[in-house]
Amino acid sequence: MSVQRYDLNACIGCESCVTICPMDVFRFDYDQMKSVMAYPENCQSCGQCYVNCQGRSLIISDNMFGYAITSYRATTTATHADVEAAIKAQPAKSAKAAEEKKAS
Ligand code: SF4
Ligand code: SF4
Repeated sequence: MSVQRYDLNACIGCESCVTICPMDVFRFDYDQMKSVMAYPENCQSCGQCYVNCQGRSLIISDNMFGYAITSYRATTTATHADVEAAIKAQPAKSAKAAEEKKAS
């Protein structure tokens, strides 16, 4: 079990998840005013971000480590700059996935 993004568009940018997570999973994207699950592999499924998410933007899922960023970081060739770029791309990817979900 781990927390995953349910709908990035629902994120109201309150930053609760960033401040409450004891495992430092979240970062905040001030360009898009949305939180970013930058280190999802650190999630210990305590559920605090989930219950305190005012936008209902997060879900607790049975899937562990279901993030592109995790497999990306697992590659030995990924540099720090590559990881930073992947983290930056994550909100756009999540928004696109949310739109596709709504459309289907
Ligand atoms: S469930 Fe707990 S450890 Fe996991 S991201 Fe949320 S606050 Fe952090
Ligand atoms: S707690 Fe929810 S609404 Fe607030 S920044 Fe985090 S994901 Fe967005």
